[in-house]
Amino acid sequence: MENIMLIAPPAAGKGTQAELICKKYHIPHISTGDILRQVSQENSEIGNYVRETLASGKLVKDEITYQLIKNRLSLNDCKNGFLIDGFPRNLEQAIEYDKILKELGYDLGKVIYIHVARNTLEKRIVGRRMCKSCNTIYNINDPKQSPKVESVCDKCGGELYQRSDDNLEAFNTRFDTYEEKTEPIIKYYRDKKVLNKVDGESSIKVVFNRIDKIINN
Ligand code: AMP
Repeated sequence: MENIMLIAPPAAGKGTQAELICKKYHIPHISTGDILRQVSQENSEIGNYVRETLASGKLVKDEITYQLIKNRLSLNDCKNGFLIDGFPRNLEQAIEYDKILKELGYDLGKVIYIHVARNTLEKRIVGRRMCKSCNTIYNINDPKQSPKVESVCDKCGGELYQRSDDNLEAFNTRFDTYEEKTEPIIKYYRDKKVLNKVDGESSIKVVFNRIDKIINN
């Protein structure tokens, strides 16, 4: 199985698509956002720093993400393919990622870029809810993506919550950061001729089928 990298603006459905891909192909989902949200619960200096940074919508320091990613990718479950989501987030991280892959003996694999317009994302962000236990994502403003019981995860019964950065103010910071820092990596991978662009404005199923075609190509 080839490795997969997902690049997308905030609230583009990246996490949802990642879960579907990982389920179908039995590969681990490596999300720097999820890893950092876990770190943010620690009562330590780093935990406090990460918690404050996440809530502001800004990026966590590169060095912290490198260590977390290296540790995670070194685990055995990544040896037969993995999906990486949320990393790299800027050009420096993309260059460092090439080094990490080389060090660990992995290939870059397929880079998939999900494109969604900013005004669509703004509408989605305020309705997004996430399960505290299994990270499943819902949207209470979309009947097709709402949980059956309010605030309860359909899959595991866990409690749903709103991410501290899922408000318009933090979204605007995150989107501006994305445009400034992440768009150069789209060019980086386009120049390397490994970028696959997907229109992410359709339903979850349709977008998944588009991505699946690329994976099987
Ligand atoms: P996500 O769940 O991918 O939307 O990430 C949530 C937040 O985690 C981001 O807004 C950043 O604050 C932080 N984050 C995730 N990935 C990275 C990364 N590669 N570098 C720096 N910060 C990150």
